[in-house]
Amino acid sequence: MTTHATHEVFNQSSELTGVDLFAGHRPLQEALRTLAPDLDLAPLHALGRALGSAELQAQARLANRYPPRLRPYDRGGRRIDEVEFHPAYHALMQCAATHGLQAAPWARPPGAHIARAAGFLLFNGVEAGVMCPISMSYAATPALRANAALYAAWGPGLSAPAYDPRPLPGPQKAGLTMGMGMTEKQGGSDLRAITSRAEFDQDTDWGRCFRLTGHKWFFSAPMSDAHLVLARTAAGPSGFFVPRLLPDGSRNALQIQRLKDKLGNHANASAEVEFDGALGWLVGEEGRGIAQILEMGTLTRLDCALGSAGLMRQALALALHHCTQRSAFGRPLIEQPLMRSVLADLALEVEGATALAMRLACAVDVSEHPGGGAAREALLRRLLTPIAKFWVCKRGSHFAQEAMECLGGNGYVEDEGHGPMARLYREMPLNSIWEGAGNVMALDLLRALRGEAVIEVLQQELAVLHGAHPGAERLAATLSYRLAVPEEAQARRLARDVALLLQAALLRRQAPEGVFAAFCAARIDAGADLFGALPPGCDVDLLLERAMP
Ligand SMILES: Cc1cc2nc3c(=O)[nH]c(=O)nc-3n(C[C@H](O)[C@H](O)[C@H](O)COP(=O)(O)OP(=O)(O)OC[C@H]3O[C@@H](n4cnc5c(N)ncnc54)[C@H](O)[C@@H]3O)c2cc1C
Repeated sequence: MTTHATHEVFNQSSELTGVDLFAGHRPLQEALRTLAPDLDLAPLHALGRALGSAELQAQARLANRYPPRLRPYDRGGRRIDEVEFHPAYHALMQCAATHGLQAAPWARPPGAHIARAAGFLLFNGVEAGVMCPISMSYAATPALRANAALYAAWGPGLSAPAYDPRPLPGPQKAGLTMGMGMTEKQGGSDLRAITSRAEFDQDTDWGRCFRLTGHKWFFSAPMSDAHLVLARTAAGPSGFFVPRLLPDGSRNALQIQRLKDKLGNHANASAEVEFDGALGWLVGEEGRGIAQILEMGTLTRLDCALGSAGLMRQALALALHHCTQRSAFGRPLIEQPLMRSVLADLALEVEGATALAMRLACAVDVSEHPGGGAAREALLRRLLTPIAKFWVCKRGSHFAQEAMECLGGNGYVEDEGHGPMARLYREMPLNSIWEGAGNVMALDLLRALRGEAVIEVLQQELAVLHGAHPGAERLAATLSYRLAVPEEAQARRLARDVALLLQAALLRRQAPEGVFAAFCAARIDAGADLFGALPPGCDVDLLLERAMP
């Protein structure tokens, strides 16, 4: 305890460091036990310990406190278009890559996507900014398979669990990262609006090479080794592989106009760029670019759901840690009945979010490997992608506000980045916006539900609720007529209700009975409007015991 001239400092909580963040996340462990019982958990414990260490948390602070800076020109006025990052950013990227969070699962056996999802979820809680290039690399890599020559040259580096920030042509590097450039000034959700154009240049070893002219209004991680870029040919929007450096080591004709000044996500650089005859290699069929992007979207949307679930978990851990150490009115906050209700309710949200996001990760894993139920899991993946992205991410900001409030005034204070709760709060809205904002996801759900096979899989998933909870059964029964004539204006209501039912079904399968009962009582019977309003009878002790970091 530090002594000041006028007073002693007491009743202030300590930092939450020196813990294994995976060991403290019981719902995540339960999800893995159900979805991938044979998974080797040792690497996740190693990552959990790294993420819980004071050293890595200091790096997260520094990478946010000293955000990337654009250096458009060198000292002599020559264009260099470089972005400089604090060394902490590189250390975090190194940690994420060596733990296989980028494209490593594409070169690994079944189960790798699930393990990676768990690690990705945990990492987000500590530093979400670096997860942007990590996620884009994960999502863009399988798209490259549509150009066999490119995949042969770049696939191994993208899948390698290594980070190599040196400015060298891709095939010369030990580890590679990729980004995606779709959004333009006049349209992001509606990618048919893009005006960037591509003109055929020549045939090369990497296939058909085009010259790209135009811009991208959002272009995150501009120092990635390459981006998958959407540009228009005579056949329509098409996907192009645009490396930062060309095979001869020269800069591609891609200019960074400026870096965005963002609410959060400060460690990550998000640029505005212009292509002035930049070389891009066609990936897949000309005119099929939007379909390709949507395919990648199923992976980045998975990561949005995992990311928000991870941010929520860490916000909850910080809130619990604080309330255990902080007293008010003569008792620790964790012992005060109303605070217990708030914390237990937040814990319940983490239970549902983790279960849903990890189930989607499992659907991705199984559907990527032929046989073993791949076809059914592909249908489930189609259903769960918009549901998880919509609901888990949508709940994030509300959740973060309540978690912050548990810390009182300290929660709102940045303190040069030493207050991680404020950073989590600023980060939270982003997953709901990028990769398809809330409405776009709800409308995508309507499209997914046009397939009878998808509806059948949904009903199979919900069958576990029969006889389990009257309110859940009643809500599930309404789906049959609501799915028959889905109304666009009601898409959010439908997405919310399907999400809640799926979360309940997952908790019924993998969590203790008390968690399932509390979820149905609080989210389905009482409505999911206010945290801390758990109905009487919910097993608060159980929820809190499971949530303690
Ligand atoms: C920090 C950050 C980094 C980003 N990085 C990248 C990147 O690296 N690459 C990239 O390509 N993009 C990137 N984006 C862009 C992002 O993906 C888009 O902002 C997002 O997809 C939304 O597109 P928009 O901004 O054009 O909004 P709009 O498309 O104009 O949408 C505005 C609102 O309208 C809603 N809406 C749209 N259509 C409908 C409809 N039919 N009915 C009802 N509502 C509708 C949307 O849900 C949204 O709420 C980034 C964005 C941010 C904030």
